[in-house]
Amino acid sequence: MFRQARQLSTTASLFKYPSSSPSSLRHYSFKVFRDVTPLRTLRRELLLSKRTIGLVPTMGALHEGHLSLIRQAASENTDVVVSIFVNPTQFGVNEDLSSYPRTWDADVAKLEDLNSELSDTNGSGRITAILAPTAQTMYPTLPPSSEVDGDGSFVTITPLAKKLEGASRPVFFRGVATVCMKLFNIVGADRVYFGQKDVQQTVVIKRMVKDFHIDTDVRIGPTTREDDGLAMSSRNVYLGGRRRAVGLALYKALKAAEGSYESGMLSRADILDAANGITRQVLSEQQSLSETERALFEVDYISLADPDTLDELDVVDPAKGAILSGALKMAPLEKTNSGEDCGLGDGKVPVRLIDNLILKPVN
Ligand code: AMP
Repeated sequence: MFRQARQLSTTASLFKYPSSSPSSLRHYSFKVFRDVTPLRTLRRELLLSKRTIGLVPTMGALHEGHLSLIRQAASENTDVVVSIFVNPTQFGVNEDLSSYPRTWDADVAKLEDLNSELSDTNGSGRITAILAPTAQTMYPTLPPSSEVDGDGSFVTITPLAKKLEGASRPVFFRGVATVCMKLFNIVGADRVYFGQKDVQQTVVIKRMVKDFHIDTDVRIGPTTREDDGLAMSSRNVYLGGRRRAVGLALYKALKAAEGSYESGMLSRADILDAANGITRQVLSEQQSLSETERALFEVDYISLADPDTLDELDVVDPAKGAILSGALKMAPLEKTNSGEDCGLGDGKVPVRLIDNLILKPVN
């Protein structure tokens, strides 16, 4: 573990770096870049050889959801760049930057396995590079600020960034848009890949690419789920069995609302009542249990929104469809039982779960 030489803000100093040095990774099938200039050199070489680059931005702690995006990128490009960077500016001052899972060695091993798989796939591209920059590389001028009114060079995409997730996480999309603008500028990818799982992020990034005339194609990959429907997320490791079971209420609620739409209902009340009914029922069941049995949560929002503007809808236009999304705040467990699987952090880490379904247009 090495720390950057220059002292950044308190938030930034919590940032941890990969334990392996680039030289120890030379035997891998991809190159690891910490800096911009060598990656630009590679980009130029690839461009001159008429190769295409797909960029998959991640914060590491890789799971199947990330890998499915990388597979998609490899099927559409000759070369894939995966960035791994836990971006400090998208975490609010009270959020989980320091506890965000960092699993560099496991991530690199997964990418190496994936490259073996890709080399057996006919016509597929491969992971050519990992970009794992330091905070100093990504924020060369000022310490990265997580304050709402903090100084820095930021990209803001409003009003999209203020809605839904942005309502309770005011710096989140400013941080996401800023880091993605930097990554897009560094990598110069033909295509950039984002997961449907973070639907608001996809809308913000598409808007940024359009409004700033960024020369790249934004591609969206489907949400990868566990067998029971739970959307995969790097933060799920904190849930443990009890909160995981209860947290599935979000997916079930969205599915119920989707069922209402698919059965022909178009009004907000009809569609969202189905979802709200489920979260209310699960919460009241939990409240009736003892502290050693229950997992409490708060519904942050259940939204039915326009796919382009994210404005809340009273009625869905069936020709356009809608985005149905929600967020649950899983509270820390109040009391744990000995031997219980409480997840990483012993059930003490609050977990925000988000999920969404696309209500498809009907002709
Ligand atoms: P993260 O590392 O959480 O910032 O995610 C990096 C990328 O992977 C983002 O585009 C996410 O939307 C995407 N992603 C995360 N979880 C999933 C999932 N379960 N299915 C598909 N994509 C995902």
